[in-house]
Amino acid sequence: MAIHTSTARGLQTTAIHAGEKPDAATRASSPNIVMSSSFVADADTPFSAENLQDQTTFFYTREGNPTVQQLEQKLTALEGAEACVAFGSGMAAISALLFHLLKSGDHLVMSDVAYVGAAELMKGLIPSLGIQVTHVNPTDLDAVRAAILPNTKLVHIETPCNPIVRLCDIRAIAEITHAAGAKLSVDSTFATPVATRPLQLGADFVIHSLSKYLCGHGDAIGGAVVGPSREMASLRHVLIHLGGALSPFNAWLIMRGIATLPLRMKAHAENALHVARFLEAHPLVKQVIYPGLPSHPQHELAKRQMRNFSGMIAFQTQKPLAVAQAFAEQLQIVHYAVSLGHQRSLIYYISTEEMLETSFTLNQAQEADYRNFAGEGVFRFSVGLEDADDICQDLAFALRKA
Ligand code: PLP
Repeated sequence: MAIHTSTARGLQTTAIHAGEKPDAATRASSPNIVMSSSFVADADTPFSAENLQDQTTFFYTREGNPTVQQLEQKLTALEGAEACVAFGSGMAAISALLFHLLKSGDHLVMSDVAYVGAAELMKGLIPSLGIQVTHVNPTDLDAVRAAILPNTKLVHIETPCNPIVRLCDIRAIAEITHAAGAKLSVDSTFATPVATRPLQLGADFVIHSLSKYLCGHGDAIGGAVVGPSREMASLRHVLIHLGGALSPFNAWLIMRGIATLPLRMKAHAENALHVARFLEAHPLVKQVIYPGLPSHPQHELAKRQMRNFSGMIAFQTQKPLAVAQAFAEQLQIVHYAVSLGHQRSLIYYISTEEMLETSFTLNQAQEADYRNFAGEGVFRFSVGLEDADDICQDLAFALRKA
C-alpha cells in the first residue's frame, strides 16, 4: 500500500484512522478485538511490571493489550499529546492520577464543584491519606492563586464542570499553577477534544471519562489520562498495581464510537443550542446555562476556549420537584437517567441541598456562586442526537404535566 506522509490530518480523519491499521495477518480493515488476557512469552521475558520497559511484546492484559493500545494511540493523537493510559472507568483514571502525583504531606487544589464521584473522593479518601485538599472556585483566579501552598503538587479542574456547566479559563489557571511549580489536570469529559485541547492551553494532564461522548452510545465504561510520555509510563505502573484496567471489548466499542466523534459533537451542539433556546423561552424555566447561549455568564470564554459548545445544558425551573416527577413519568424520548454524552437524550435532577450535604465542600461565597448556577436544584440535560423538534416536543409535553 502506498504511504504518503501528511502529518497535519484533520480531526475527523484522526478520529477514524489514528491507532488503527489493517491487520497484518488477515488484512482485516476494522480493528480486531484481542480478548486474550495472556500472551505467549519468550523464556527471558521479565516477570515483574517493574521491568515493563524491557518487554517488547504484550504479556498480560492488565499491563497492556493490543486493542487497548490502539485506543490509547487514538486518544493521544486526538489530544495532540505524547502518550495516554486507558482505564476501566473515568474514576479509575482520576484516582490513578492522584496516586501517581500525590503522597502524604502534599497539597491538592480542587475545583469546588466537580463530578460528584471526584468531589467525594477528594473530600473523603484523599484527605484520609494525609493529603491536604483546598476547595477553590476556579473562576476566581485570585482565589486559585491564594489557595496554592509551597507543598501544592496538583490543581484539578473540570471545564465545563458537572453539573452546572460552569467553565474554567485553562490558560490562566495553567499560568498560575506553573508559576507555583505545581501541575494542572483538566477533566475534559464535557468538552471532548473536538471542543478543547487542554494540553495546548498549558494543562499537564487531560482526563476523560470515556463512558460519555467518546464512547458516545452508552454501552461501555472507560477512562483515560493523556499527558507526557514519562509521566504516562509511571502512571501505567499505578494502573498495573491498583488494577483499574479497561476491557479490550470496551476499548473496541469506545474506538468505534470515537470514529464518529467530530460528526456527533457537531450534531450534539446544534441540537443543544436548539433545545436551549426552546427552554429559555418556556414560562416554567427560570434559567438556562449553555455555553453556546449569549446568556451564559462565561460566553466570551466559551467562544475563546471551545470550538464546539458540546451538548450539556443545565437549567432551573419553577417547582423543580414537580417537574422532576413529570419528567420521570412522562418523557418518552428523553430518558430520565444519569450519565451523559450518549446518542439518547438523558436528563436528571440534581438537588442543591443533597449536593451540599453529600458531595461539595463549599464556603459561603462558593455556595452563593453555586446557587447562582443551580438555584435549589438543577436539571442536567445531555442533549442527544434525536431530532431536535422531537426532543422539544417531549419536554413541552412533560412540562405541561408538572
Ligand atoms: N468526570 C466527569 C466530568 C464525569 O461526568 C464522570 C461521570 O459522570 C466521571 C469523570 C467519572 O467517569 P466514570 O463514570 O467513567 O467513572
